[in-house]
Amino acid sequence: MQQTNDKHPQNISEKAVPVIPIRDGIIFPSTDSVLTFGRPKSLAALESSFQHERIVCFVLQKNARLNDPNVEDLYSVGTLSRIERMIRADGEINAQVRGLSRVKILSFEKHETFFMARIVEIPDVVEVTAEIKALCNHLTNEFRRAMNFGKSADFLVFMNIMSSENTPAELSDLIASALDLRPQERQELLEMSNVKERLQRLTELLAKEIKVLELERRIASKTQERFEKGAREAMLRERLKTIEKELGEEEGSEIKELMMKLKDAKMPQDIEEKVKKEIKKLSSMNQFNPESGYIRNYVDWIISLPWSIKSKSDVDIKTAERILNEDHYGLDKVKERIVEYLAVHKLAGKMKGPILCFVGPPGVGKTSLGKSIARALGRKFIRVSLGGVRDEAEIRGHRRTYVGALPGRIIQGIKDAETRNPVFMLDEIDKVGADFRGDPSSALLEALDPEQNSEFSDHYLEVPFDLSDVMFVTTANVLDTIPPALRDRLEIIQFSGYTHDEKFHIAKNFLIKKQLESHGLESEHISVTDEALHFIINHYTREAGVRNLERKIAAVMRKIAKKVAEGSKDKITVDEKDVTKYLGPIKFRGTMVEKQDEVGMSTGLAWTEAGGDILFIEVALMPGRGNLTLTGQLGDVMKESAQAAMSYIRARGEKFGLSEKFYQKIDVHVHVPEGAVPKDGPSAGSAITLTGL
Ligand code: ADP
Repeated sequence: MQQTNDKHPQNISEKAVPVIPIRDGIIFPSTDSVLTFGRPKSLAALESSFQHERIVCFVLQKNARLNDPNVEDLYSVGTLSRIERMIRADGEINAQVRGLSRVKILSFEKHETFFMARIVEIPDVVEVTAEIKALCNHLTNEFRRAMNFGKSADFLVFMNIMSSENTPAELSDLIASALDLRPQERQELLEMSNVKERLQRLTELLAKEIKVLELERRIASKTQERFEKGAREAMLRERLKTIEKELGEEEGSEIKELMMKLKDAKMPQDIEEKVKKEIKKLSSMNQFNPESGYIRNYVDWIISLPWSIKSKSDVDIKTAERILNEDHYGLDKVKERIVEYLAVHKLAGKMKGPILCFVGPPGVGKTSLGKSIARALGRKFIRVSLGGVRDEAEIRGHRRTYVGALPGRIIQGIKDAETRNPVFMLDEIDKVGADFRGDPSSALLEALDPEQNSEFSDHYLEVPFDLSDVMFVTTANVLDTIPPALRDRLEIIQFSGYTHDEKFHIAKNFLIKKQLESHGLESEHISVTDEALHFIINHYTREAGVRNLERKIAAVMRKIAKKVAEGSKDKITVDEKDVTKYLGPIKFRGTMVEKQDEVGMSTGLAWTEAGGDILFIEVALMPGRGNLTLTGQLGDVMKESAQAAMSYIRARGEKFGLSEKFYQKIDVHVHVPEGAVPKDGPSAGSAITLTGL
C-alpha cells in the first residue's frame, strides 16, 4: 500500500467534488486500487478532478448494466478518493486511486458533462474496547485461515491486513475491500459508520467465505480423489488387460500342452474327440470362471489314464512257479492253483473266466501272494481296499455335477498303476455293504465281469474304460458275507492258518531276512536262535497268520539296530532267554485245559478270526421247575443248540438212567465263560449235550 499522509482527510464539509459512478466495485477508505475508466462522463470527471486537488467521489450505481446512469441510479453514500496516478491509453484511463473517507452526497449538481456533488464526510463511530480488539484479532486470524484455504488475494493486501499498525476502522475497510462480496454487500459495509458493527458484519461475511472456501476445497479434493480413483482404475484395468493377455498366452500354451498330452494318451478316437471338445470349451472360458477348474480337472484325469500303456506280460509258467516259491514258504496247494490259473490264461490269451479270490484269516500271505503274481507276470501291482465301502459312487465315481467329484476307486487304482494291465487286488471284498446309497457290489460285478468290463463306465469319466486286460484278484476273510452274485464269479482259494511249524519256517526263512533288510542290518550283526523263534511264536502271538509274528521280529530288530547304530560291533545272538528283554513280559500262556475232568464242564472247539480256540461250557443244576437259563452272550443258533441238547437228554432220559420227569424238579443253567465275547454257531451243540450229561 502506498502510504499517504492523508489517512485522515481534511475536513471536507459540504464540498462539491466530481462524481464518478462505478458499475460494480467500491473503493473503501484506506485502500488503494487501480481502476480503468472508459465512459466519457468518467473521463471528463477525472480530468476535472485535477482542478479539485485530484479529489473525486466514487459512487456505486444501483444497476451495473446502466451505461449512462442518472443521479437517481446512484447510491447516496460514496467514497471520497484521491487520484494518485493516471495513465492514458487508447481512450481509456488507468488510475491508481486511494480511498479517503465515507461521504454522504447531499445533492448532485449537473456539470456540463459529468456530475458534481455536494458531500459531507461520515465520520467513523469507534470506541477502542476490548471487544473491538478481540474482533480485530479474530478477523485477522480468520483472514489468515481463509488464505490458507486458498483465498486468492494480493500478497500486499494480505501484508497490509496483517500489519499491527491498523486502527480497527482501517482494518475493517482493508478486509472489506479484500473479501469476495457482492456490490450490495459492499455498499452496505460502506454505509456503516459504526466500526464495531462493521467488524461484526465482516466476521459474518468472512466466516461465510471460509465456509465456501472449505466446501470448494472439499469438492476439489473429492474431484481430485475421484479423478485419481478413475485414473487408478483405468490404469489397473489396463494392467489387468495386459495380465490377462499374458495369461491368455499362457493359457494358450496350456491348451497346447493339454492337446499334446491328449494325443500322447492314444485313447480311442471317439473319446479323444469328446476330450478335445472339453479342451476347446476350456480355452474359450475365462479362467476366473469356476467351471474352468472343473473342466481342467476332468481333462487332467482323462488324459492321465493309461489308455494304451501296457506292461509286457509274457507268462512263462516255470518262471512263475519259481517266483511264487521264492517268495513264499508252503502254501503248496494255493501255489498250484495259481499256476494252473495262469496256465489257463496263457492258453486262453485273455483274462476271461472267474476271478481269483483268496479267502483266509489275516496275515496268511494273501496280499504278498498277489504281489508275487504281479512279479511273476511282470505286471504292476495295485491294491485297493474295499473295507467299509457302502456307496456305489466309491466304486464307480461321482457324476461330474457333484462338487469335488472324483472317479471311483477302480479308475483311481488304474491311474496309480500307470498301466492298463496291472494285477489289481481288491481287498476285503467281504466287507462291502449295501445301503440306500446304492449297491457297490453291482458296480464291482461290472468291473470284474470279463463280459462287461471292456466297457467299464465310471460316472465321473462318462466314457468307458477297458478293464479287460486287468488281472483282478480279490481277498476276503470270510466267505459268508460276500454277496452271492459276486461270489458266483469268484474262484475261491482258501488259505488256512499256519501251524506252529509253518510259522517257524516262514519266520526263519522269510520274515527275519525281510526285517533285517528293512532295518538296514546284516546277518553278521544278529542271529536269532530257533528256540527264540519258537518262544516268540508261542508266547507273543496268537494268530492264524504271521502278521504279529513279523511285527514282533521287527520289534526285536529295532532294538538291535539301535545297539548297532550306537557302535556295538559284536554279533548279537537273540536266544530264548533274551526275548523277554526285547519284547517285554510274555503275552500268552496258552489256555489251560482243566487238568482233571470235572462234572458240569466240557471243552468245545471254537472258530475265531485268529484261527481257532477252545472254549469251556459249564452247566449247573439246581432245584427248580424245568427252566433253562443260557448266559455268556450266546447267539440264537447257539441258544437253539442248547435247547436241542436239553430235548435230547429229556428224550433219552431213561437210557441215561435219569428218573422220570427229572426235568420238572430242576433248573438248568448253561454258561459259556468269557461272557463279553459274542459266540454263535451250531458246532458247540455236542459239547453242550455232553456237559448236560
Ligand atoms: P494277508 O494279506 O493275508 O493279510 P499278508 O500278505 O499281508 O497277509 O502277509 C503278512 C506278512 O506275512 C507278509 O510280510 C508276508 O510276506 C508274510 N507271509 C505270509 N505268509 C507267508 C509265507 N507262506 N511265506 C513267506 N512269507 C509269508
